[in-house]
Amino acid sequence: MQAYLDNNATTKPAPEVVDAMNEMLTEQWANPSSVHRFGQQARQRVELAREQVAELIGASPREIVFTSGATEANNLAIRGILAAKPTRRTIITTALEHSAVREPCRYLGDAAGYNVVILPVNVDGLISVDDLAAALDKHGEDVALVTIHWINNETGAIQPLEAIGALCRERRVVFFTDATQAVGKVPVDVAALPIDVLSFAGHKLHGPKGVGALYIGKRVGLVPQQLGGPHERERRGGTENTPGIVGLGVAARLAQAFLQTDGPQIGQARRDRLERAIVDGVPDTVVNSVNAPRLWNTSNMAFPPLESEAILLLLSEKGISAAAGAACSSGSLEPSPVLLAQGVGEAVAHGSIRLSLSRYTTDAEIDYAIATIPQLIQKLQASMPV
Ligand code: PLP
Repeated sequence: MQAYLDNNATTKPAPEVVDAMNEMLTEQWANPSSVHRFGQQARQRVELAREQVAELIGASPREIVFTSGATEANNLAIRGILAAKPTRRTIITTALEHSAVREPCRYLGDAAGYNVVILPVNVDGLISVDDLAAALDKHGEDVALVTIHWINNETGAIQPLEAIGALCRERRVVFFTDATQAVGKVPVDVAALPIDVLSFAGHKLHGPKGVGALYIGKRVGLVPQQLGGPHERERRGGTENTPGIVGLGVAARLAQAFLQTDGPQIGQARRDRLERAIVDGVPDTVVNSVNAPRLWNTSNMAFPPLESEAILLLLSEKGISAAAGAACSSGSLEPSPVLLAQGVGEAVAHGSIRLSLSRYTTDAEIDYAIATIPQLIQKLQASMPV
């Protein structure tokens, strides 16, 4: 038996996505910039995907730029917005961002002299809108950008996005959100929400890896960062990844259909059942961000003083795929910077594991995880020297 519980790292591509990509690779492989009919057929598929992606998030197709993933979309957003406002030198962000936001901000601070303001967070991993207001007051006209993720990839905590965006609108500051863990899992409507720029990646919503999108609201100034051809309406040079883009379009269509069902509620019931069984079976379990609004698919927990690596290895031997914090940092013994920033303490930051579900997660997988995880943790605890 196996249980794949690492869906925040990546999700299984939907069969419909694979079929569409296969068709693009084997039949519709022309360059969409070519003027011949074959090229224009590929162009039509790319533009259909743009419509599907735009529809999923309530945007207009012209506001969508395809990229090679969320990392590129984040870099384009952050650098592109700053370049459009060269006299403003302050960026406001949080310590809980994915490395694809954290590292560009760190670089811009260290190497380009930007003033990077990192907002404090509470133990549940939420920022306070009052702190954001105070930072906006303090730095005033110098603020070029507020960049705060929507849903945390490690804990599933959901930031007060509407209040953050409304405040940015009021102060006329551009608000960019990395929505990589939100799109396809919760309803997103950029027309109704105060969001200026938003990024996400195909592989978190049962689409392909290596493709993502950036929504750039009509009124937002953004200087392209990847210079080349006039692709993507001169916002991102380079021949389009047609199989990836078409796959992302199909994934967007499927995600939209999923969000119109009770799928998220069913998923949450599965996550809650799993979490409750572990908490009941292992005394002193710590559930991270337990008091925050959380995404229905994520549970992040620690069993101090156990270290996450030992747990993950044993789970892996039992066919259970889980993670410790961000996928990019697992394999190292570094504690999660996100959990450390939340102030959970070293033992919890070193010992936390993340279980993340998807719409493909089955009750049988949850049953197997429930039958395996508490027992395995108890065994590990019993083998600890007192
Ligand atoms: N942002 C968030 C919140 C993520 O979870 C991830 C992926 O883990 C990324 C950005 C980066 O996505 P990609 O590796 O597809 O560029």
